[in-house]
Amino acid sequence: NSSLHEVDPDVAAAVDSELHRQQSTLEMIASENFAAVAAMEAQGSVLTNKYAEGYPGRRYYGGCEYVDVVERLARDRIKELFGAEAANVQPHSGAQANAAAMFALLKPGDTIMGLDLAHGGHLTHGMKINFSGKLYNVVAYQVDAETGQVDMDQVAELAREHRPQMIIAGWSAYPRQLDFAAFRKVADEVGALLMVDMAHFAGLVAAGLHPSPVPYADVVTTTTHKTLGGPRGGVILSKKEYAKKINSAVFPGQQGGPLEHVIAAKAVSFKIAATEEFKERQRRTLSGAKILAERLLRQDAVDAGVSVLSGGTDVHLVLVDLRNSELDGQQAEDRLHEIGITVNRNAVPNDPRPPMVTSGLRVGTPALATRGFQDEDFTEVADIIAEALLPDFDEAKAKTLSARVTALTEKYPLYEGLGK
Ligand code: PLP
Repeated sequence: NSSLHEVDPDVAAAVDSELHRQQSTLEMIASENFAAVAAMEAQGSVLTNKYAEGYPGRRYYGGCEYVDVVERLARDRIKELFGAEAANVQPHSGAQANAAAMFALLKPGDTIMGLDLAHGGHLTHGMKINFSGKLYNVVAYQVDAETGQVDMDQVAELAREHRPQMIIAGWSAYPRQLDFAAFRKVADEVGALLMVDMAHFAGLVAAGLHPSPVPYADVVTTTTHKTLGGPRGGVILSKKEYAKKINSAVFPGQQGGPLEHVIAAKAVSFKIAATEEFKERQRRTLSGAKILAERLLRQDAVDAGVSVLSGGTDVHLVLVDLRNSELDGQQAEDRLHEIGITVNRNAVPNDPRPPMVTSGLRVGTPALATRGFQDEDFTEVADIIAEALLPDFDEAKAKTLSARVTALTEKYPLYEGLGK
């Protein structure tokens, strides 16, 4: 019954330091967010002790009556949230959700089409050394060099040529909305299944601020920890006709016992995602990203070679394009880290710099919106970032910008009461 601090001071100290890092810096990694304390409480509960192979009402272990309640709540809530016919809430992560969905609906050697990793796609959409690239024949589509956007004519052309069994629509680094109706049309024309991976924008869909892929796709996968704001994990939504195959692909196909403590935290966050407060947060997320894109394009930044891919954003992130800047992605990430802003460097399409360096930054607003940021605060953050990317950045400037970051972190305290 001893506490973490008593049993393991080393781990406790690292956890405390991480809490302090989250509280005292500005988190702008587009795939991160802050889970609700209630969700973390559910995740840190005795449910971690329970084996529950199988599904509610059909388990391979005794004593599952309470975890059944939790898993049914999670399943029903996410079905309701997205208007889906079926849901599997057991995937441990987004990658595992994608692996199970593909395992359920494809045979090894089948052809899949996904957005090129270098153009904003995800590893699981066909990267060479990922399971998706090893098991399936991959045809990648790309963004148009001029517009920075997915060109549906190119997608249709590739699909006609390669006749894929599955087309994947979804992204990890793309600042615009995809046209799901157009993807459906291409998939129907060539007899392919359509899978949408909405991991990044699921929270926006839940809030009704982004078109929903659910009416168009055979299967929709998501993570639960990005814009959706829950614990780290994955979910598969599908038409009823695929539910049985998907369930057996998750268990016993890919996983053993489900993480019922994480599923409990998922259930809590799906409840939160259905609230008006959550919608309002997603509105601020979108508005913050728009402000960021606009203000990063100020004249002195543009003169220094800073640009924004596709000229703006319709979602929760901005892709800063540094191809014409002296500063590379690594240096820009380091500069922002130095002043207390966390982002990740990101390759831009046709990046001239190597993948570990890159010529881009991916900057997202979900975590700051959760923290409470309003338009005026996003304006201040945008100005801080723009100034940090200018050529006259030096130690004195770093100090002033750091102080401005600290003022924002103090204006919006995070997880007060934790770690005390
Ligand atoms: N799908 C997309 C579009 C993602 O961006 C990510 C994560 O970055 C994943 C899937 C994988 O999620 P996880 O890291 O939980 O495996």
